[in-house]
Amino acid sequence: MQLTVWTYEGPPHIGAMRIATAMEGLHYVLHAPQGDTYADLLFTMIERRAKRPPVTYTTFQARDLGGDTAAIFKDAVAAAYARFQPQAMIVGASCTAELIQDDPGGLAKALNLPIPVIPLELPAYQKKENWGASETFYRLVRTLAGAPVTRAPRDGRRPVCNVLGPTALGFRHRDDLIEVTKLLETLGVAVNVVAPLGASPADLGRLGEADFNIVLYPEIARAAAQYLEKAHGQPFIDIVPIGVGATTRFVEAVAALAGLDPAPILAGAPSRLPWYSRSVDSTYLTDKRVFVFGDATHALGIARVAARELGFKLVGLGTYSREFAREVRAEAALHGIEATISDDYLDVEAAIQAAQPELVLGTQMERHVAKRLGIPCAVISAPVHVQDFPARHSPQMGFEGANVLFDTLVHPLMMGLEEHLLGMFREDSEFHNGAAPSHLGHGPARSAEASAPAQATAPLPEPLTEPAPPATAPAPIRVEAEAIHAMPQPAAHPAPWAPDAEKELRKIPFFVRGKARANTERFARERQLPLITLETLYDAKAHFGR
Ligand code: SF4
Repeated sequence: MQLTVWTYEGPPHIGAMRIATAMEGLHYVLHAPQGDTYADLLFTMIERRAKRPPVTYTTFQARDLGGDTAAIFKDAVAAAYARFQPQAMIVGASCTAELIQDDPGGLAKALNLPIPVIPLELPAYQKKENWGASETFYRLVRTLAGAPVTRAPRDGRRPVCNVLGPTALGFRHRDDLIEVTKLLETLGVAVNVVAPLGASPADLGRLGEADFNIVLYPEIARAAAQYLEKAHGQPFIDIVPIGVGATTRFVEAVAALAGLDPAPILAGAPSRLPWYSRSVDSTYLTDKRVFVFGDATHALGIARVAARELGFKLVGLGTYSREFAREVRAEAALHGIEATISDDYLDVEAAIQAAQPELVLGTQMERHVAKRLGIPCAVISAPVHVQDFPARHSPQMGFEGANVLFDTLVHPLMMGLEEHLLGMFREDSEFHNGAAPSHLGHGPARSAEASAPAQATAPLPEPLTEPAPPATAPAPIRVEAEAIHAMPQPAAHPAPWAPDAEKELRKIPFFVRGKARANTERFARERQLPLITLETLYDAKAHFGR
């Protein structure tokens, strides 16, 4: 058992719901206790869909457990078929129903419905939402894609592809799809089927007609694409076009597979990001320490943009997508850091504290953590709240997505001039050390580290190495820590700071002060110094600056 307050992913049946809700003409019968209909709200409120997900819940109650829950399930399947007349159905169990072992697949088969009914085996106690989505999509494709077809020779016709991966409740999937489709059209590649988003079971029956597949979100669609490659001889591309570099490689790979010339798309300046990040106002962004965490697709894509296209220094990278740990570890190794592979937000929080970044790019959870630590943050991956399903066009992918990313990643940071002025005039009543970036209005003050007033005579606060837990969200007691990567722990009792050393520390601009404090305390700890003096501070600076 693991007590937890926040979870990055829902149970796997939520993944199955994301596939069913994305599609048309598919219905999902979910054996689930009363109350599981909460999941509808993810789609109707967070994603603001205008209709209920195509899901029928059996909603059994405690008193039903003494009776025939299997009959309840069969009745629900029969009623859902009669009412919705879908082209195909998926059936499965939620976590609680898994325990009562009613065998939804066998029960639905016994009804002999005249449509394909696909049973889902989603182990709710081992797997999570994205795995559930991937498995559901894979099962649907396997069942419905039909027999391999002989495709017409390429000569004299447009190359044709399928676009796989966009789902309901996907972070920016709606707008990514628009951008990728635009790229394909400009290249001269026709889109056969987009799935699961907007596809019907009949559309999945046409998947084999395409020449190749494009996987936009490997967590969701790589398994299905691998099946199509094997069964239908369709190669696939799973370069995620996040950032200018990746989009360029994506375009080149598609063009190579389609036998087309990528030059017309790549000529000129298809994105503003390269110039914006080269322009002189971006100089101060160089080597900003950034921590990136999210699902594997976004963590990898955004880390590459941050490090290679904006000049940030990657000081942390991680994912909760354990299936993609190897790829994330490999990317982290390129930056000389160890990846954080964990679905425990406390591990992630510890990793953020240890890395002392100036910017956190993560999920909704990291937004909360960063807010508590007083670090600027932007959301780049699910799980997300309602504000990250915006009304405006906001892709992450393609050249327009790169424009959006430039703005997203730079916006939370203090602007260059202000940062410079803060370094010079720390005691200004408006632009003092503890002020939030003025372009963000009167936001929350920075952490105690940043906001300590620069008064030599003021009583000194305790060094901030272990921020207090928030009053509203007590840290859970961890019964079983399952983190793959054991994070470095801050010292229990760092050496105290002499007043003049503390005063000198405050002269360091706030965005690197945390790092300076941590380095100095480490320096003192390694030498077992009882007190951090002015001399210790300078010695540590010289030591780490070598
Ligand atoms: S069955 Fe699963 S999703 Fe539903 S309430 Fe129980 S734990 Fe939550």
